[in-house]
Amino acid sequence: MTTEFIIPLLRWFEEQAADLPWRRSRNPYHIWLSEVMLQQTQVATVIPYYERFLARFPTVHDLAAAPQDDLMKQWEGLGYYSRARNLQAAAQQVVADFGGELPTTAAELETLKGVGRYTAGAIASIAFGEPAPVLDGNVIRVFARLFDYTEDVSKQSTKNTLWQTAEDLMHAVPVGQAGNYNQALMELGRTICKPRHPACEQCPVSADCQAYANDTQSQRPVKAAKAPTPHVDVTCGLIWDAQREHLLIAKRPDDKLLGGLWEFPGGKVEDGETMEQCLARELQEELGITVAVDEFMVRVHHAYTHFRITLYAYECRILEGEPTCYACSEWRWVRQADLQNYAFSRADRKIIEYLLDRPNRLF
Ligand code: SF4
Repeated sequence: MTTEFIIPLLRWFEEQAADLPWRRSRNPYHIWLSEVMLQQTQVATVIPYYERFLARFPTVHDLAAAPQDDLMKQWEGLGYYSRARNLQAAAQQVVADFGGELPTTAAELETLKGVGRYTAGAIASIAFGEPAPVLDGNVIRVFARLFDYTEDVSKQSTKNTLWQTAEDLMHAVPVGQAGNYNQALMELGRTICKPRHPACEQCPVSADCQAYANDTQSQRPVKAAKAPTPHVDVTCGLIWDAQREHLLIAKRPDDKLLGGLWEFPGGKVEDGETMEQCLARELQEELGITVAVDEFMVRVHHAYTHFRITLYAYECRILEGEPTCYACSEWRWVRQADLQNYAFSRADRKIIEYLLDRPNRLF
């Protein structure tokens, strides 16, 4: 296995590294936050969130003590909300078990909630200089091309081999350079060795790249074909109080998708159900209320990583029952103008936009 690429890669990173806010800091909390936000999310999207989040929660102690609604509001729109909940749970662990200071080794970092091998390696190497490897989607692609791997990288056995490769390569990285080396690999994958059309002519390691030599870069990494993304229809109720002054919103349970976010209550349409039947059933199950399903208001589309939804919103009135949380963690009556103060999913935010910008508009 060639290690020749390491020095040119490091030199390229030193000369070309993008000036990103978290690269101006050696504070482990800042580096941890950036690594969590960057999972599954583009750098340009992360930057404003990162800056606002640190302004609101400048220390691990602030994050540990934050009210959940505050936390979710800061994360609103960034997606993968379990990251925010895990981040706070881990901050509470850091305060309780490590005196408020992030642990300094990858092994200890991995004991924190939501911190896997990748994140632990990134923090330990960048913040503390530990020669701990990283392997994310960008690094997998770079390795698959550098070494012209023909194995399917979606298999766990191939990932294990690649982790071993990452560990072996780390022995050839100059002492004190592990953090830069890991960041360089990720940055190469992000900016040059892109999934489609890698810019091999500008690549600092093309001389050592086996896929480039074999002209197979467009076929690497090898990945099994993905199954088509499933689609589900979902309903939600815009439930007004008797005076039509307040709307009922419910908070999703922490252990569910979008946990900790507020929503217009409702749920997935089952086989053979009409939208109205679904909504009546869901509101009975979730909140113990019997409703009249009135006018259809708006339809919105949204794509999550593993499925797509079409969300149909209907106006509803309560006929019977006092709202009680059977499948939510909290509910409230809220004035329409105050909806902006709560953290909602992107799909529900489109409904709020509609409410603020009527008449009828389909997304
Ligand atoms: S030469 Fe091309 S395929 Fe190889 S690492 Fe560089 S950008 Fe990727």
